[in-house]
Amino acid sequence: MNDSLMSTYNRLPVTFTHGEGATLWDTAGKTYLDALAGIAVCNLGHAHPAVTRAVCEQAGRLIHTSNLYGIAAQETLGDTLTELAGMERVFFGNSGAEANEAAIKLARLWGSGKGIKAPAIVVMENSFHGRTLATLSATGNRKVQAGFEPLVQGFLRVSYGDLDALRALTERPEVVAVMLEPIQGEGGVNLPPPDFLPGVRELCDQQGWLMILDEIQTGMGRTGRPFAYQHYDFKPDVMTVAKALGNGVPIGACLARGQAAGLFAPGHHGSTFGGNPLASAAALAVCETLKEQQLWQTAETRGQHIVDGLRAQIGELPGVVDIRGRGLMIGIQLDRPCGELVGRALDQGLLINVTASDVIRLLPPLVFTREQADRLVSQLGSLIGDFLADD
Ligand SMILES: *Cc1c(COP(=O)(O)O)cnc(C)c1O
Repeated sequence: MNDSLMSTYNRLPVTFTHGEGATLWDTAGKTYLDALAGIAVCNLGHAHPAVTRAVCEQAGRLIHTSNLYGIAAQETLGDTLTELAGMERVFFGNSGAEANEAAIKLARLWGSGKGIKAPAIVVMENSFHGRTLATLSATGNRKVQAGFEPLVQGFLRVSYGDLDALRALTERPEVVAVMLEPIQGEGGVNLPPPDFLPGVRELCDQQGWLMILDEIQTGMGRTGRPFAYQHYDFKPDVMTVAKALGNGVPIGACLARGQAAGLFAPGHHGSTFGGNPLASAAALAVCETLKEQQLWQTAETRGQHIVDGLRAQIGELPGVVDIRGRGLMIGIQLDRPCGELVGRALDQGLLINVTASDVIRLLPPLVFTREQADRLVSQLGSLIGDFLADD
């Protein structure tokens, strides 16, 4: 599309000019139903008035001063977000990968404090944690790593959901933490077996390992709770959040509780932009709106409605392997690669995603209406039916 941009993305042939809620307009004036929300970012929908107001007001007063000084909006956001997340303290960065970098550094500090010279973090197969060197090393996808060796050391990998494999690592004295997603997003909307996350928590308690949850995709109401771990009755030690935190204004957060919350001291970590007044004001508006409107409950009911609808319409088709999800994080697994569905849907004015080659991933904004959910089900159901019939 444009030669000045490095070729890191295969972009679709469309450019949007504006949006409202779950609707986007392109340069030709055509409208689209957005069932992806900028990859789980615009959870409040596009051009949400509370975010727009907060950003405009803050930009008119003060955008940036640096973390050398007090930042009122960051402090208020810290109080609000830690409460919503059930955590104690927070460090703000600018993206998901940076939030995970902070979590990885916390885990290493935790290990070095215990006198462990080469600490290791257990990570999962098919995980995704970002594109920086440490986070791509933690990621369980060779495509993300190939060409960027040598990888960052200090990660051990087990298969997602395999408690026995994790239990086998209790023999390894260098292990200091387990890092995982409560539901794997890029990996194909993979839900763990019900006893897996509680089992990880138990092993972490028993071994003195930090349990680090990457809630970058699952957090901020997406799965039917403010954070996906709140479907269970445990808490992680460290949790990372980004994507929907600023509804599109770049901000990420590494939250912690207990001993992990007190590990960083001045000089250990930092970020020039992290938690600046503009990003903090946006994220504060997001947290307050999410809370006021209990949007995670909408996510739960709307998500169930979509899954039920899809199961009724296409659940019995032979090419449909599985329809799964939690809240508005939904995956439809087919028996064949289905990347071309993204372009077919785009032609029809529908924005969807395909991940792990054969899983159609839906991440609509939490403000999706029932009518929009019905339209998504019928349009996507026909697209999938036609696609399976053609092939
Ligand atoms: C998107 C994502 C990341 C990376 O976030 P960036 O903001 O792109 O750096 C990390 N972990 C998970 C689970 C994600 O979905």
